[in-house]
Amino acid sequence: MARIGFVGLGNMGGPMARNLLKAGHQVMGFDLVPEALAALAAAGGIAAASAAEAASGAEFVITMLPAGRHVREAWLGTGGMAAASAPGAVLIDCSTIDVATAREVAAGAGHPMLDAPVSGGTMGAEAGTLTFMVGGPDEAYAAATPILSAMGRTLVHCGGAGAGQAAKACNNMMLAANMIITAEAFVLAEKLGLTHQALFDVASKSSGQSWALTTYCPVPGPVPSSPANRDYKPGFAAALMAKDLGLAQEAAATAGAVTPLGAEALALYRRFLEDGKGDADFSGIIQMLRGMAKG
Ligand code: NAD
Repeated sequence: MARIGFVGLGNMGGPMARNLLKAGHQVMGFDLVPEALAALAAAGGIAAASAAEAASGAEFVITMLPAGRHVREAWLGTGGMAAASAPGAVLIDCSTIDVATAREVAAGAGHPMLDAPVSGGTMGAEAGTLTFMVGGPDEAYAAATPILSAMGRTLVHCGGAGAGQAAKACNNMMLAANMIITAEAFVLAEKLGLTHQALFDVASKSSGQSWALTTYCPVPGPVPSSPANRDYKPGFAAALMAKDLGLAQEAAATAGAVTPLGAEALALYRRFLEDGKGDADFSGIIQMLRGMAKG
């Protein structure tokens, strides 16, 4: 049993903290939203009065916050959690943020720190089946493995500080481009009189194959569990995909990498969001592509 501080008990952090409790750990949590704190207490956790209180005395201190500015302020700001954390504590940020901020916070924390963003969404958070992409020192990763395993099924140690965020940005840029081109192919097939099932049967066994096609197919029918079969209810919301693509573009600009398809994917998802579709599943972008077609 470990003593864990957990700050950011929203859609992801709430169920993640509950899985730590289920695994027998003691969790003291904090969130700005009183209902989130009450839910933690109802699940057997302890509600702290501040982020610093949640951090103090804990062996592992975890954040699951919206964006880089929240993470920097929570750890390094006035009354920040890094200063409040006990000697020997391992700090873990599970938020999805930019690589540069992840590295800056790890360098300024004064404790061993891991960036450990996740994939798997709210369903994975509930089920404890998240994938963690982790950056940071070997010893901290080894110490944190049982804690992360209580919230996830797959852990990958990607390298030093920021490597977890880098892996997530690269992966999601690939996913977005795969999804858009798969959706484009279905729209083209419709225009050519080819059925969805026929394209799926060929491409899923051929070189056009991808996760976006075979697990998350953007048209209803071929993969019954994909969000296309439930009117593009997420799943993985388009707004979150646009956020991750923005982080990938920031990272590319800073690192001097050329990612024209990643930039175009971001532009298309921004347009989808402007249509008011931020809450739809990201595979719903096929509807926008269909609407853009001539004739
Ligand atoms: P959310 O908005 O539901 O939760 C964030 C929580 O942080 C809120 O409850 C908010 O009150 C709290 N918060 C903000 N500032 C705070 C502060 N200073 N102190 C204490 N609490 C504070 O967001 P979410 O969906 O849980 O996402 C969290 C992170 O996980 C994001 O970085 C997101 O990109 C990432 N993520 C989300 C998903 C998903 O499917 N929702 C999937 C993978 C990764």
